[in-house]
Amino acid sequence: MARITVSIEPQHADFTKCEHEVKTSGRPRDPESGCTGRAQFQVVCSEHGAVGKPHYLKLFADPAAIEHRQEHRAALATR
Ligand SMILES: [Zn+2]
Ligand SMILES: [Zn+2]
Repeated sequence: MARITVSIEPQHADFTKCEHEVKTSGRPRDPESGCTGRAQFQVVCSEHGAVGKPHYLKLFADPAAIEHRQEHRAALATR
C-alpha cells in the first residue's frame, strides 16, 4: 500500500511553487532570487494532487490538510 502524504505547498501569485527562502512576513529573503513572495498555500495530496482551492494564509491551509488526512484515515478504516 502506497503511503499517502498530504502537504502544504506555498505558491506565488501565478500558482507556481515557491521553494525560495522567505522571511516570516512571506517576502523573499533574497531580492535577487526572482521570487515574488508567497501569495497562497495549496494543500497537495500524493494521491489526489491539489486539494480544494488555495488558501491565502497558511493558517487556513493547515486545518484543510489535517481534514484531508483524516478523510484518508476514515476511508482506510472502512476497507
Ligand atoms: Zn518564491
Ligand atoms: Zn487525498
